[in-house]
Amino acid sequence: MGHMISVAIDGPAGAGKTEAAKAAAKRLRFAFVDTGALYRAVGVAVLRAGKATEDPAEVEACLPDIRLSLAFIEGAQHVYLDGEDITETLYTPQASKASSDVAKVGAVREFLLEPQRELARRQNSIFNGRDIGTVVLPDASLKIFLTAAPEERAARIYKRQRENGSPQPYEEVLADLLRRDKQDSERAAAPLKIAPGAVVLDTTRMDLEESIQAVVALIKEKL
Ligand code: C5P
Repeated sequence: MGHMISVAIDGPAGAGKTEAAKAAAKRLRFAFVDTGALYRAVGVAVLRAGKATEDPAEVEACLPDIRLSLAFIEGAQHVYLDGEDITETLYTPQASKASSDVAKVGAVREFLLEPQRELARRQNSIFNGRDIGTVVLPDASLKIFLTAAPEERAARIYKRQRENGSPQPYEEVLADLLRRDKQDSERAAAPLKIAPGAVVLDTTRMDLEESIQAVVALIKEKL
């Protein structure tokens, strides 16, 4: 995309994309764009409108009324719906399910496509998502597919929930995760898959610092 550097990091939930990408972006002074938050925000908007997230027609009908914007405050991404900062509401189990539901809808993906590309044109950035290397930024300077074993990913999400004080039982976290993986990789619209030319990084046996260093090293090779 122009002369800006864009790095695509795709992979399943709980692989550590957000933590690794955020820290790598900080070290390299790149913007960090978490695209999952956009799908979460659409999911929350549909829930707030009282519509069924499982019904693609209802979801699509909500889109003309959804006004999303993003701001980066001290490197942290904030998402606004009609001017209200809804970032804190995006990570509940309900919002996770809603995001995966609305992400199946082609019109939702279309709605979010150009705003994402616009962000990539403006600054050097690391984009995090499911379809960045395959659809949003197929010409990204570097594509990474970050993954880990499902049990390890579930353990990480479980730990994060405990730290945030709203834990689900581990078995439930794992079941939700497997359901979301299946839905994300089997959907017709922009399914989660390894982009051509992507470097696969398996973090099952890496701690966070090792994952960050691996991502930073891959990016530095490209600079
Ligand atoms: O990454 P995160 O878990 O926040 O993403 C929430 C949901 O948004 C995912 O389960 C996936 O269905 C969807 N998503 C997507 N494409 C992206 C980012 C997220 O379909 N680029």
